[in-house]
Amino acid sequence: MIENLRPGASAKNACVALFDFDGTLSVIRSGWVEVMVPMMVEILADLKTGEKEEDLTTLVKEFVGRLTGKQTMYQMIELADNITARGGTAEDPLVYKKMYLDRLWERIKGRIEELESGHTSPEKWLVPGSFALLDGLKERGMKMYLASGTDDAYVKNEARLLQVDKYFDGGVYGALDDYKVFSKAILIQRLISSAEFKGDQFLGFGDGYVEIENVKAVGGVAVGVASDEPHCAQVDQWKRDRLVGVGADWIVPHFSDRDELFRTIF
Ligand SMILES: [Mg+2]
Repeated sequence: MIENLRPGASAKNACVALFDFDGTLSVIRSGWVEVMVPMMVEILADLKTGEKEEDLTTLVKEFVGRLTGKQTMYQMIELADNITARGGTAEDPLVYKKMYLDRLWERIKGRIEELESGHTSPEKWLVPGSFALLDGLKERGMKMYLASGTDDAYVKNEARLLQVDKYFDGGVYGALDDYKVFSKAILIQRLISSAEFKGDQFLGFGDGYVEIENVKAVGGVAVGVASDEPHCAQVDQWKRDRLVGVGADWIVPHFSDRDELFRTIF
């Protein structure tokens, strides 16, 4: 189940665990790519540049994937830049972000409501094995942080609904309206510069390019979560290849075999 990309890599120095949220622990927002990509392709196709829809889809998929893990705003800024580059008049990227969140909400509101009402257990919308993994890291005395590119209020609410918020003694952080004030990289730098942790003490878990890159850049080790959402039963090859490309040390499709995972990484 665990792909070991760097024999010799070890998390035994790690004392801080940094988690991404969507696609790493939570699958509440699963399907967001199928909302964001068609919306952007639709907007670009409206400019009638003569480009084929499949070429626009390839273009949009590339930048959406590359920016996954960063605050959503960056994907919208890239969309606006692409509109301008084609001679169109772009709206404020915030307008596109709002449009995207409205469309996504239609897709996920039922999931949130069933969690809020208690009609479903958190496990239904968590990557399998999440609780056991978080318990195990806690037992090892790790300081734990959750950092997401999704807006702060949503992340905090969804982490609470999934009952994982209590694990994160370091805090739960999401995107702020002023998108330059907070990022995963800023959080890591803050922890290092306050002398709380050294770079090689970071153990990252993420399904996005950005968080793996950020953790590797300071000398930490990273577990790439390449789940075939929403089932999370096997490895999604596209995600896997991207996470390998950015330097993940290990790849997992889920956390169901925690003991094997811990034997491998520690
Ligand atoms: Mg993610």
